[in-house]
Amino acid sequence: MKKTPFLTKDKAEEITAKYPTPFHIYDEKGIRENAKSVIEAFSWNKGFKEYFAVKATPNPFILKLLKEYGCGCDCSSMAELRLAHECGFKDDEIMFSSNDTPAEEFQYARKINGIINFDDITLIDYYEKEVGDFPETMCCRYNPGGYYTIANQIMDNPNDAKYGMTREQILEAFKKLKAHGVKHFGIHAFLASNTVTNDYYPELAGQLFELAKELKDEAGVHIAFVNLSGGVGVNYQPEGEGNDIYAIGEGVRKKFEEILVPAGMDDVAIYTEMGRFMLAPYGGLVTRAIHEKHIYKEYIGVDACAADLMRPAMYGAYHHITVLGKENAPETETYDVTGSLCENNDKFAVDRKLPKIDMGDILFIHDTGAHGHAMGYNYNGRLRSAEIMLKEDGSYKLIRRAETLADYFATLDCFDELKGLFN
Ligand SMILES: *Cc1c(COP(=O)(O)O)cnc(C)c1O
Repeated sequence: MKKTPFLTKDKAEEITAKYPTPFHIYDEKGIRENAKSVIEAFSWNKGFKEYFAVKATPNPFILKLLKEYGCGCDCSSMAELRLAHECGFKDDEIMFSSNDTPAEEFQYARKINGIINFDDITLIDYYEKEVGDFPETMCCRYNPGGYYTIANQIMDNPNDAKYGMTREQILEAFKKLKAHGVKHFGIHAFLASNTVTNDYYPELAGQLFELAKELKDEAGVHIAFVNLSGGVGVNYQPEGEGNDIYAIGEGVRKKFEEILVPAGMDDVAIYTEMGRFMLAPYGGLVTRAIHEKHIYKEYIGVDACAADLMRPAMYGAYHHITVLGKENAPETETYDVTGSLCENNDKFAVDRKLPKIDMGDILFIHDTGAHGHAMGYNYNGRLRSAEIMLKEDGSYKLIRRAETLADYFATLDCFDELKGLFN
């Protein structure tokens, strides 16, 4: 599957005349169509809800857009809870799936009546001491340990993951919470990341449905929902296929009918907390080639850097690159495409076959809609870039301005002599 940018060279030049590169741009049409498909794929389940993982793209415009499709928010910090709340998400539209959680965040999550997902059994006593008031619906996160495999292939290593509770602990946690007056229970697990297979959710669902049946009997509780969390991946590569959300929805339905329906548990709601699958393909980082360098290798220096998109530097992640206006030009060159950080891992691509790049060319770095701008940071004094929404009618809207030096220095206002200096 060839990757085609949702942005043309002409549109990019039009936008950059107003908002200089680098910036992340999002495709409203793509986000909407995908959200619709997700809802449709799980529409067989009465209580289905996608809680968008706010950490992936914490922008109010995007949260509100997803809200139109009935999505809720999955939050993991005070800032994310506040953002969801201010964007109008209420009560059980907010899932609080955090770990190593500070008391204030439990208190705030309770205050806005979100659903609290306990990452560990010790947090129940902590919660009792710091918050005290237990709502009727709560959730616990499960970690089965071992390796997580699908068809004998290792997908991830939960045994080495800091998240969740053991089988024994989750049973004890449910009994404990029941004694605190909790009436409806959820089970949550996140066992593999960026899975590009339609089998991940169905396999996970099968495992959690079995667990749900056992916990219902052993703890004598009502299981209200099973939260499959995130982990549904996208194909960052130009070759191969991505996930088919309809096949995934059907796979989960099969397990539901095999396991939960015969157990008289057909009222269980399926929840998801997808971030990447909801947004990654519908964002791109737009950056201009500003330098070329010929030493032992050929380098193209662009005006974005790892502070705008950390995934290649952090995980060696592949992000496809299109040179706008040269979509069909032959890939005659081999480049490292780099940013300006004083870190040699600041490379968006290594030994990448690309068309000949001229200075001033605009590069579109694909699939940055999730865990892109969100993971940005300020190392080397680099300022966080703007975010722009390309609307369905072809117009565009600034949905977060670029940082300024005044923003960067704002926390130094403890020095009187620096106050206002950088405005
Ligand atoms: C990161 C995260 C998600 C989203 O993961 P994706 O891979 O982006 O779908 C969902 N739930 C929790 C608890 C997470 O930490």
